[in-house]
Amino acid sequence: MITTTPVEAEAFRLLSADLYQHIDEAENLADSGPWAEQDQETIRLVIHDLVTVIRCLLAHHEPPKAAANRHCPSCNTSWPCPGVHHIYNVLKDPEREFVRLVQARRLGPGVASAGQ
Ligand SMILES: [Zn+2]
Repeated sequence: MITTTPVEAEAFRLLSADLYQHIDEAENLADSGPWAEQDQETIRLVIHDLVTVIRCLLAHHEPPKAAANRHCPSCNTSWPCPGVHHIYNVLKDPEREFVRLVQARRLGPGVASAGQ
């Protein structure tokens, strides 16, 4: 059995809190407004960074390479693993902007943009 020392537990807690702070700041930026021109560039860059985070998570939980293996090589749970399920549920939720954005892009210009 692997045990975590109190020092390690505190380090994990601090790391987690730091990561959540980054996400909270990105979310606060999205909720702020109206945006100055400089803010719009920052928001565009933050969107790129958040997409990179999602891509990294998906790449980390890739499908098994061997057909006989049905487990995620990263977390060793059944494929698709819980990490992929969570990402899927958020990205494919029709109540979120991801779905509306992709649908609007597929329908082409002149169609109401996402969120309208
Ligand atoms: Zn996984």
